[in-house]
Amino acid sequence: MIYENPFSMPGKFYKGNTHTHSTESDGKQTLKQRFDAYRARGYDFLVMTDHGVVSDVSGFSRDGFLAIPGVELHPGNPYGGETYHFVGIGVSRLVETVGTSANDVLAGINDQGGVAVLAHPYWSGHTITDYAELHGYIGVEVYNTTCYVSIGKGYSESHWDDLLDRAGPTVGLAVDDAHHVSRDAFQGWIMVKARELTTPAILESLRMGAFYSTQGPEIKDMQVAATFLGQCLRVRTTPAQRIAFKGRASCGQCFDAGDGESIEEAECVLEPMWGYLRVEVTDASGKKAWSNPFLVSDYV
Ligand SMILES: [Zn+2]
Ligand SMILES: [Zn+2]
Repeated sequence: MIYENPFSMPGKFYKGNTHTHSTESDGKQTLKQRFDAYRARGYDFLVMTDHGVVSDVSGFSRDGFLAIPGVELHPGNPYGGETYHFVGIGVSRLVETVGTSANDVLAGINDQGGVAVLAHPYWSGHTITDYAELHGYIGVEVYNTTCYVSIGKGYSESHWDDLLDRAGPTVGLAVDDAHHVSRDAFQGWIMVKARELTTPAILESLRMGAFYSTQGPEIKDMQVAATFLGQCLRVRTTPAQRIAFKGRASCGQCFDAGDGESIEEAECVLEPMWGYLRVEVTDASGKKAWSNPFLVSDYV
């Protein structure tokens, strides 16, 4: 697999949000208010991604809390859909978007050692047509709180699956994209396994896919195990109503709890034909967690 299993590597899990706005663009809180609020809610790191503005956030890191600079960029889209929204994590300077192709903007994020993510595809109305020619991004926002709160288009699971099936290995991130004070904050985040709480270590783990996304449910472990059926992917979670394993196209398997019951473990055979398996956990209140894909074969 090209991705690291976060449950098999050394380090610690850190909670963070990778998409946030402040009064430096169209957010309702100042940089200080935003960092203070996420720190007070127990986050370990926060990435500030104002539209077309890279702020110096170094003064907002504290013992046990990391402020990471970033940006949201909007290059033109020649493939028919609306303008792109790219989130650049860990960048220290702006990338020019006027007269710059989308791929050159993505390259500009990578050239600085940053990580690029395709933001909120469902909200943007983007399809595989808009993304097929892009390269230099690690993943896509599988859940975006502000897009859910504002128009109900927060979940981009099928967009992620399109990318996985047609473009190749792609990770998924749950994010807030917080603009308001609390209405669209603290509802989607990632748990990153990293060797330490520093920007280089977090970026390295993001590139390795060593994290999972959640709205609350926890993925406690995910391992390959030998069973009498063959190699299985076994997952342990906090109490869930459903644990779903999703592979390419029509491939997958679901495990559901009975009425008034819950499940905390499930396993699924690793079928090479399935290409990959990603795990989706849903709890009794409908909140979800998403693992990154576990690659079963070279499927694209
Ligand atoms: Zn956006
Ligand atoms: Zn945004």
